[in-house]
Amino acid sequence: MAEKIIITPDGINVPDNPVIPFIEGDGIGPEIWEAAVRVFDHAVKKAYAGKRKIEWLEIYAGEKGFKVKNEWLPEETVSALKEYSVGIKGPLTTPVGGGMRSLNVTLRKKLDLYVCLRPVKHYPGIPAPVVNPDAVDMVIFRENTEDVYAGLELQSGSKEAAELISHLKDTLGWEIPSDSGVGLKPIGERGSKRLIRAALNYAVEHKRKIVTLVHKGNIMKFTEGAFRNWGYELAKEEFKDVVVFEREADGSIPEGRILVDDVIADAFFEKMLTRPHEIDVIATMNLNGDYISDALAAQVGGIGIAPGGNLNYTEGTAVFEATHGTAPTIAGLGKANPSSLILSGKLMFEYLGWNEAAALIEEGIKAAIMSKKVTFDFYRMMKESELVSTGEFADQIINNMN
Ligand code: NAD
Repeated sequence: MAEKIIITPDGINVPDNPVIPFIEGDGIGPEIWEAAVRVFDHAVKKAYAGKRKIEWLEIYAGEKGFKVKNEWLPEETVSALKEYSVGIKGPLTTPVGGGMRSLNVTLRKKLDLYVCLRPVKHYPGIPAPVVNPDAVDMVIFRENTEDVYAGLELQSGSKEAAELISHLKDTLGWEIPSDSGVGLKPIGERGSKRLIRAALNYAVEHKRKIVTLVHKGNIMKFTEGAFRNWGYELAKEEFKDVVVFEREADGSIPEGRILVDDVIADAFFEKMLTRPHEIDVIATMNLNGDYISDALAAQVGGIGIAPGGNLNYTEGTAVFEATHGTAPTIAGLGKANPSSLILSGKLMFEYLGWNEAAALIEEGIKAAIMSKKVTFDFYRMMKESELVSTGEFADQIINNMN
């Protein structure tokens, strides 16, 4: 009988037949979902010989939400994700006009999904722009709720912008040109610490060696600099038995310890390319995290297949998602690569503790890429490859799970 996943103070409790809500998504969403769900079901069946099975529950958002429920993001979709704790989604169209910023941003806000989790590594066979893409095996923890992305912006020339500019001049003596648009960058202690705590916990659980705080605190001292300071404070207070700092480590990390260090954001981009083996888990703020996620995915040639999840580790809510958009120009043509959604599913299985299913999915994807029978995005870049459809690529993955 299908049951709910329960979050307890001791962690996640996953029944053998969990109900997992899914949002198919817009554009290429339906075809990549159709491919992905076959891969998921096959991996679970193979890993657990029928003892475990997911009961998929369709919930609606985006264009289908509007068609079926007359709303872009129905309240019952948000409550289902809360009720069942873990969900997965395809890409959603951002409605143009109408006041809604983005369905994804709204969903993250409503569920307070404060971590954007992005593992990045190279899969053999994928053409990459760097000499040694295999040195990249990193996990990004990007803060999802604060920073310049909090939506606190006023348009140049508006009454509100003029009032704020005048208030800032009167109270703080700040001279801001009157034709400026103005935005705020809130970075809080609670918001920073819960993100960095999640990154450190992840490093402990997954036996990672380094957690790097990436910031621009040399310039933005009270926002990004504070993030860095709160990070070290948290590491000292809550993780003192497992961490070590650069000065103590003196070039080598003692067995069983995690090195906590920090790098200024611009230098980090250089380090990502020149010394990737010295980067492991990354904890950073919203804007830096946005840039780093795409730059790292590009470094391994995998921007189209990068997986992701948005999580609230405190309450246990997690929504895994394809990181690309709806690709409207190829929608319905069977051309889309389903790998981002499938690898997001792998991430979801790891979160559920179903590591055997996750491993089968990864094995299947790796072998499917190596076979060079790939969707058109890879076909264009891979020499001597054969073009297959979205569904055929999923078949390859399934046939390669051993
Ligand atoms: P996009 O990711 O949809 O497309 C960028 C390019 O990548 C296009 O050439 C597209 O054909 C290609 N592409 C994307 N996914 C692919 C896949 N799986 N296989 C093969 N090729 C793929 O980005 P966009 O064009 O900027 O946005 C289109 C729509 O998607 C917009 O409405 C945007 O708001 C939305 N969007 C949603 C999400 C999300 O739901 N997470 C993320 C980004 C954009």
